[in-house]
Amino acid sequence: MHRVALIPGDGIGPEVVEAARTVVDATGVAVDWFSCEAGAAAAGKDGDPLPEVVLDAIRSADAALKGPIGTPIGKGFTSVNVRLRRALDLYAALRPVRSLPGVASRYRNVDLVVVRENTEGLYSGIENMVVPGVVEGLKVFTERACLRIAEFAFDYAHAAGRRKVTAAHKATVMALTDGLFLNCAQQVARRFPQIDYEEMIIDNLCMEVVLDPSRFDVILLENLYGDIVSDLTAGLVGGLGVVPGANIGAELAVYEAVHGSAPDLAGKGVANPTAVILSAALMLERLGEAGAAHRIRSAIETVLGAGKVRTRDLGGSASTLEYVDALVGAIPAPLFGGAPSRPTGA
Ligand code: NAD
Repeated sequence: MHRVALIPGDGIGPEVVEAARTVVDATGVAVDWFSCEAGAAAAGKDGDPLPEVVLDAIRSADAALKGPIGTPIGKGFTSVNVRLRRALDLYAALRPVRSLPGVASRYRNVDLVVVRENTEGLYSGIENMVVPGVVEGLKVFTERACLRIAEFAFDYAHAAGRRKVTAAHKATVMALTDGLFLNCAQQVARRFPQIDYEEMIIDNLCMEVVLDPSRFDVILLENLYGDIVSDLTAGLVGGLGVVPGANIGAELAVYEAVHGSAPDLAGKGVANPTAVILSAALMLERLGEAGAAHRIRSAIETVLGAGKVRTRDLGGSASTLEYVDALVGAIPAPLFGGAPSRPTGA
């Protein structure tokens, strides 16, 4: 029995997280789910959108599955997501970006992984007003964080049989900060001679990845670039509704989609739960349930590949619940030794 903290979150979060729970339960894997409130619901009760009790619950669980949590724009309000990642030191965001059958997009065979540093950079939250009309924000990098995210990317590439790591930077302009990031990536790259290593200026990388995503494998990025490139690459495979993610630390892991709370869709029952379901599949791999993860991916590929039941973002008309019903009906029976040969999570 795996103990999993379930954080529904805001907006479409409760709908898509519940969908993921239903699909995981349908695999027959024994999960003891326990819900924790963070985001608007928690703020309404305790005044704090991320109560300490939620952090403790995640610390005590085998893993956590989280829905998106909204952040007011320009209010100086610290993002709950940033707070959570920093409080639990979930320093690596892992986001496999893959084409899915039946999902119309510009490219057919995208298969790359975004590795984003999750705790530093411009997300340090250190901003101040020098004088009215002049403000500054600090981009903070430490050697420790740069080294460990590079190690994470190379370890992951090695374990997953990936061939190349591309480090993105703007060290031409930010010589100290992005320069340190690159220097650390180079140090780690030397320890992995079997994995190709290249560096690319972030603006050029954005163009190259849109022109030809097949030339990328693992992309290593600092926090802000990683945030942006995650959404950019999601756009290459059908959008935010289909890209999963994991926030990983030395001990703990919180699984969540790349997308946000999509307030425009909240409560309508039309959100695409695929991204959170694929995040749950990554979580199952970590819990030693690679076979169940494989069966969930297989169900998604079967249903989307058939093209009959799709949510609106993918050009269909199915509700979230109709799509989940189709997935549950398509989960193959368990097979002995049915685990995928190549891990996708970490
Ligand atoms: P968003 O990802 O919520 O939405 C962007 C677009 O993608 C919208 O058109 C939305 O309808 C669509 N979309 C997103 N998820 C979808 C899904 N599952 N199915 C179908 N369509 C989907 O980004 P945003 O609008 O920039 O942000 C909304 C809120 O979410 C903000 O408060 C932001 O701070 C928060 N956010 C949270 C997280 C997180 O919790 N990790 C991540 C990103 C944004």
